[in-house]
Amino acid sequence: MKILIDNGHGNNTPGKCSPDQSLREYAYAREIAGRVVDALKAKGYDAEKLVPELTDVSLAERARRVNEWCGKLGANNVIVVSIHCNAAGNGSWMAAGGWCAYTSPGQTKADLLATALYDAAEVALTDYKEIFPVLKTKGAYGANQKPIRTDYSDGDPDFEARFYILMKTKCPAVLTESLFQDNKADVAFLLSDEGKGAITQLHVEGIINYLKPGAK
Ligand SMILES: [Zn+2]
Repeated sequence: MKILIDNGHGNNTPGKCSPDQSLREYAYAREIAGRVVDALKAKGYDAEKLVPELTDVSLAERARRVNEWCGKLGANNVIVVSIHCNAAGNGSWMAAGGWCAYTSPGQTKADLLATALYDAAEVALTDYKEIFPVLKTKGAYGANQKPIRTDYSDGDPDFEARFYILMKTKCPAVLTESLFQDNKADVAFLLSDEGKGAITQLHVEGIINYLKPGAK
């Protein structure tokens, strides 16, 4: 099984950062992707970054790289997880927060991978889930915000979207939005050692649980 970790965007992508510039999405996604790849490799898995470059690589080229591996190994022997941070606004601090994942519409193996990531997020984000309602009472999050964002309209927790990396790749593909880069409390958590560890752990554990024999 080839595990491809996609890190969203590049150092030439405009915008895509926290209002105070402390978190840049491309850099954060690359740091987490590197940690996830290293952790999976240390456990004996065949993992690699889809985009080792620092510059942005087009979605078409990202999908081409994934599908090249699918051609070599078979689409059932490849997975891709694309790591991003969410945003609710356009340059100022916002009140949305939380973690979520996306798959393409319809039921595929990607939905099983996404559910495994949600299960892992429930564990890895325990501290975040505990502090979230406390911070909400202090105005950090809007009243309807939740630490784990779900959409059960089709029976599973992930959201569905026709994102390019989900639609144009032949293997199971999930895109994760690890908290909001324009929420002050989320950015503080994301940039903390604990936060980086939790976001890394949820991806690592979710992928491993999906790959366990009998899990799919
Ligand atoms: Zn992004």
